[in-house]
Amino acid sequence: MRIRDVSKQAEMALKESEDKYRSLVNNVRLGIFRSTPGPRGRFLEFNPAMEEITGYPRDELLRINVVELYVNPKERETIQELATIRGKASMERLFERKEGTQITVFETKVAVRDEAGEILYFDGILEDITERKILDKELRELYALEKRERQELEEETRARGQFINVLAHEMRTPLTPVLICAGMLKHALSSNPESTQFRLSNSILNAAQATVSRLDHLLDLARFSAGTFTLNLQPLDIRGFLEKTASEFRPAIEDKGQYLIMDLSPALPIIQADPPRLQQVLLNLLSNASKFSPEGRNITLRARTAGNELMIEVEDQGIGISPEEQQSLFKPYHRVEQNRLTLPGLGLGLAISMQIVKAHGGRMSLTSELGQGSTFCFSLPVRSQKSGV
Ligand code: ADP
Repeated sequence: MRIRDVSKQAEMALKESEDKYRSLVNNVRLGIFRSTPGPRGRFLEFNPAMEEITGYPRDELLRINVVELYVNPKERETIQELATIRGKASMERLFERKEGTQITVFETKVAVRDEAGEILYFDGILEDITERKILDKELRELYALEKRERQELEEETRARGQFINVLAHEMRTPLTPVLICAGMLKHALSSNPESTQFRLSNSILNAAQATVSRLDHLLDLARFSAGTFTLNLQPLDIRGFLEKTASEFRPAIEDKGQYLIMDLSPALPIIQADPPRLQQVLLNLLSNASKFSPEGRNITLRARTAGNELMIEVEDQGIGISPEEQQSLFKPYHRVEQNRLTLPGLGLGLAISMQIVKAHGGRMSLTSELGQGSTFCFSLPVRSQKSGV
């Protein structure tokens, strides 16, 4: 009686375990099969997913020669040979479903042998990877398209840069004699600064200088996009440089009824820099500070070292810049919407200044509050020696 109970229990446990594995094999979306070796292979057993993958109902699948599934029958031979030699082989294969559509499957075959080493059958797994292959192909095509478009865009940018370069040069050339003549005229008439002729020559000179400066900006931009921008680095005594630049620009600031304040820390280093380029950055920041500040306000030029960096700041008490506008100011052609029509400028100055600072190995940043003023700050790397106090 007891023995019968125990064996019944064992039977139930076995059935439970069998049910568990059967449901796993039946539910899985991978085809699982057992097939006979040799040229006329037959399926001995398989799960329902095999019917779904091949399109054959169970009874037919049990009857067909396995080789019929292969678009290229040679492919069955190779995987079988490999599985025989290595014990296991996995390959991507083209199958033909019952209704004739072709699918790509990933097949793995394991050789199962008897004690004498003879192959009894192959156990295998079949995964329909057709969709994945299509997706992969689409992705590859998309990448190729994106690459082509990027190359075209790069080529277009390069061509545009070249065009701007030529255009700016062509337009600058006739301006040189205008600049020289207007300068000479202004000088010749300087004994009578109230005369109409003097004011006219002055206007011509200013207009020609402004045009040259805008053309120079365009040229710089073209150099940056073509990757041909270079610096002429040399040792630069930063204190002397800042004082000289400030003294040159002070009259323009004072003409607007503003004040230029110098706040230079006592020990400033000698750095490696391109002086005309650095001056271009400084003049851009100082002239913006003046342009966007009302009369009577201070503009402060500050310099100090912080670790291995020289920090230069231009602070103003002007109109300030909203947080949204701050995001895009360093991009070429960007100008704050409300200044677009009222104040002259192409919106290239900051973009170019930023690139020049970057080319020196530094960074540029901005803190600003609408109505309170702005501080543009840029860093330059300091290498070894320091100048005297
Ligand atoms: P531009 O002055 O030639 O337009 P910039 O690149 O130098 O070109 O400046 C871009 C824009 O950034 C300016 O048009 C202005 O709207 C804003 N901006 C620059 N500096 C200041 C400043 N100190 N205060 C307020 N706005 C500024």
